[in-house]
Amino acid sequence: MAKPILLSVDDDSDVLRAIELDLRSQYGAEYRVIGSDSPERALDLLRQLKVRNDSVALLLADQRMPHMDGVEFLQQAMAIFPAAKRALLTAYADTNAAISAINEAGIHYFFMKPWDPPTEHLYPQLDDLLDDWRASFRPTFQGIRVLGTRWSPRSYELRDFLARNHVPYQWIDVELSASDPETKRLLEALGSEASSLPVVLFPDGTKLLESVPAKVAQKVGLRTRAQTSFYDLAIVGGGPAGLAAAVYGASEGLHTVMIEREAPGGQAGMSSRIENYLGFPSGLSGADLARRAVVQAQRFGVEILAQEAVGVRREDSYRIIKMADANEISCHALMIATGVQWKRLEAPGVDRLQGAGIYYGGGATEALSCKGEVVYVVGGANSAGQAAMNFAKYAERVVILVRGTSLSSTMSQYLIDQVQKTPNIQLWTHASVAEAHGEAHLEELSILCSDTGKVERVPANAMFIFIGALPRTDWLADVVQRDERGFLLTGPDLLHDGQRPSAWALDRDPFLLETNVPGIFAVGDVRHGSIKRVASGVGEGSVAVQFIHQYLSKV
Ligand SMILES: Cc1cc2nc3c(=O)[nH]c(=O)nc-3n(C[C@H](O)[C@H](O)[C@H](O)COP(=O)(O)OP(=O)(O)OC[C@H]3O[C@@H](n4cnc5c(N)ncnc54)[C@H](O)[C@@H]3O)c2cc1C
Repeated sequence: MAKPILLSVDDDSDVLRAIELDLRSQYGAEYRVIGSDSPERALDLLRQLKVRNDSVALLLADQRMPHMDGVEFLQQAMAIFPAAKRALLTAYADTNAAISAINEAGIHYFFMKPWDPPTEHLYPQLDDLLDDWRASFRPTFQGIRVLGTRWSPRSYELRDFLARNHVPYQWIDVELSASDPETKRLLEALGSEASSLPVVLFPDGTKLLESVPAKVAQKVGLRTRAQTSFYDLAIVGGGPAGLAAAVYGASEGLHTVMIEREAPGGQAGMSSRIENYLGFPSGLSGADLARRAVVQAQRFGVEILAQEAVGVRREDSYRIIKMADANEISCHALMIATGVQWKRLEAPGVDRLQGAGIYYGGGATEALSCKGEVVYVVGGANSAGQAAMNFAKYAERVVILVRGTSLSSTMSQYLIDQVQKTPNIQLWTHASVAEAHGEAHLEELSILCSDTGKVERVPANAMFIFIGALPRTDWLADVVQRDERGFLLTGPDLLHDGQRPSAWALDRDPFLLETNVPGIFAVGDVRHGSIKRVASGVGEGSVAVQFIHQYLSKV
């Protein structure tokens, strides 16, 4: 924890130096001593300390200063750090002013100049003041703080990014906390910058205005640039399949980089409880699985890049990947493990309110914000069931909307049982979202009931959509063969009547998980015909490494 601060202000540099020296020699072990020769500059400094979330224990100001006297300074400083003890340094002639300041201006004590010896005239009184301050002192949060509003899509994107990358932070909703005096003081200290939300404040005192994940990623040390320009194996996508390939590839000696545009863990990272993964009888959260896998991959030396792959091309035996920041890396073997992304819900108002009450996927960061509210979950598959179970812990009521008559054809029986046993989860069958309403955030939903043909309009603050997913592989379209829905074709799927893909120049068939381009492999949900499960993604990611070894032995 950063040491609390003792700040002294005096325009006379000799006096300032003397008081700093005495304070430091007596209190330097426990407090940070700062001096300022101008009350105006000291107030600026206090505003910066407030933004950094530092604690100020003592403000000690000379009464006679040219532009602002000590009492006025202490009064202004009190608006920024109200809990700090305030003391004046006065000459004998100012004794009366000091006494009335104690009575009228909330000053705790005054010291006469000179204060020699300090052991008699300074330390005993300061000890008292500081003991008193310590008794009510609560250490402040020392990590990253994010200021934003709940209904802002940009704030949501940033919080989701930090949470999924396991970066701890404190969330300050400036609207909800508007009546909190400490938040008010922080916003005042930020001044006009407080309107550039979301604002991220870092413990080193720096800040990012109108922050976006890429900028924050750089600042918190998530690597966005590759260390070298060439790798044996490059993996695009850090879900279970990509992570497994990274662990197996690197552990078997391949110089490996994994490129992930959001956060390692992929869809699995959104799962509140994976109950069918081998070896975890009571289940584990996707975030936990992702965190463990990332540590394991890093232990074997995998480099993880927070980047998006936007293009790929081949040059002789090299496969070259272009990143969103226009940098390129090349590799001998490329593995595509980009999974699938949520299908869009087509209804008026949904796109406009996305991130402002309407979310695709689990919305791990949102579960707590839905405390005591009614949450709508759209979809009847396992992902929707897991999310409903998670929200039910916080929300007053969770309503699952499904088009069909029941969950039985789409959800695993163990989840149906759990959903049925949870009293605050309600299933609304024959229901589909006809429209989402709200100005700045979701306020109401129109639900079409297909059994009655009626549209019901219900109040709603939060809706989470889980209606299936598709791959986003357009960036590979010119190079890698895909099926009509964008899934990548591999191995036997590429052979037609025993014929190898056109332009295939090798005297062997494509390996089981290899695409139509030798050395480019596809694993996990993005692959045509894959089984959409964590374990199968992990299996494919690890098996593919064997084929990569065979491929590399002939390059
Ligand atoms: C809410 C939920 C609950 C689930 N529960 C279970 C369960 O209980 N049991 C189970 O077995 N399965 C479950 N699944 C399914 C399982 O999570 C998926 O089958 C699995 O995650 C697929 O892994 P993957 O690595 O192929 O792809 P994904 O997990 O989709 O990961 C792909 C990654 O690639 C990244 N990416 C995509 N394009 C790019 C690009 N161009 N550049 C860089 N990175 C990119 C994405 O950001 C993503 O992180 C669940 C899925 C969801 C959504």
